[in-house]
Amino acid sequence: MFPAFKDKLLVAGPCSAESPAQVMHTAQGIAARFPQAWFRAGVWKPRTRPGSFEGIGEPALDWLKDVKNKTGLRIITEAANAYQAEACLKAGVDGVWIGARTTVNPFLVQEVADVLRGSHLTVMVKNPIHPDADLWRGAIERIRDAVSTEVIAIHRGFHSFETTEFRNHPRWQVAFELRSMMPGIRMICDISHIAGARPLLQSVAQEALDLNYDGWMVETHENPEVALSDKMQQITPHQLGDLFEALQPRFSVADDPQSLHQLNIWRNEIDQLDDELLHLLQKRLSYSEKIGELKKEKQVSIFQPDRWKYILDEMNRKGSALGINPGFIRNLFIQIHDESIRIQGEIVNKEEKKVL
Ligand code: PEP
Ligand code: MN
Repeated sequence: MFPAFKDKLLVAGPCSAESPAQVMHTAQGIAARFPQAWFRAGVWKPRTRPGSFEGIGEPALDWLKDVKNKTGLRIITEAANAYQAEACLKAGVDGVWIGARTTVNPFLVQEVADVLRGSHLTVMVKNPIHPDADLWRGAIERIRDAVSTEVIAIHRGFHSFETTEFRNHPRWQVAFELRSMMPGIRMICDISHIAGARPLLQSVAQEALDLNYDGWMVETHENPEVALSDKMQQITPHQLGDLFEALQPRFSVADDPQSLHQLNIWRNEIDQLDDELLHLLQKRLSYSEKIGELKKEKQVSIFQPDRWKYILDEMNRKGSALGINPGFIRNLFIQIHDESIRIQGEIVNKEEKKVL
């Protein structure tokens, strides 16, 4: 047993089911190291352009059944519409996941939910392609309304226009938002679709553990070099073992009284500082109101680029000297400045009551 693994879920297997041998060899490699894992394989593949490998379809469900019979792993695949959900039910899979391109579409999610109504499948719901926690919650609610079994959230990152090191930007905050909207929901991290490339997998897997996720989805292929889809991000079952070997365990809570006591002391300090921050913010925003009144009276434009540049440069300089991350300072002051502009806009554009 890998130390980081206690009480966690692992969903591992190839991006796509390609052949009976590829599916079985990969599953056996996984089962040898992680007998408690779920085995995943895409049977219908949502591809960006036609002509790429679009999956084997229904016949591959039999290969998954063979995996279940031979290895004892639980089997799960993606269902993106009523037809696919029916086929999964008929084949007797243990679970289905709703893909990112399906979660965005409430019609499709409802269609899948209606087919699964009353069944005992475990359903895992990926986040939608864009960072919308509410849409993600809506999909989970539709499924929860239909099945009595557990619904698990999968965080697979979000499409981003910026070029980043990730294939899909994690935007951890969106996942935190879902976890706070749906207390108690288990969430796993699909490190493969976030990373998009093998070298990033380890750090994303560790981050998920640091952030107290309930497990991981990892695309695993007996021979990633020849994979028919997502070959850059897949690893072998052996590499999957190495990845877990290298993870630093994290515990959900500190359980010795001394650490708990110390944590409480520091948390109290933080609570007091947060109160002070709120009062300071309120004081700062009250000056935005005064400035708004003056600008209204003198008909001065609200946004002053030189002033904004001065604030950003100064805060960056002073923040760096204090050892605070410049990106954080920048985002914080963008938020504060946005609110200041909004307040001034409200004041400047307030309609005076016309006396006729
Ligand atoms: C997948 O898991 O292979 C897949 C297609 O994922 P996503 O829906 O996250 O793009
Ligand atoms: Mn994939």
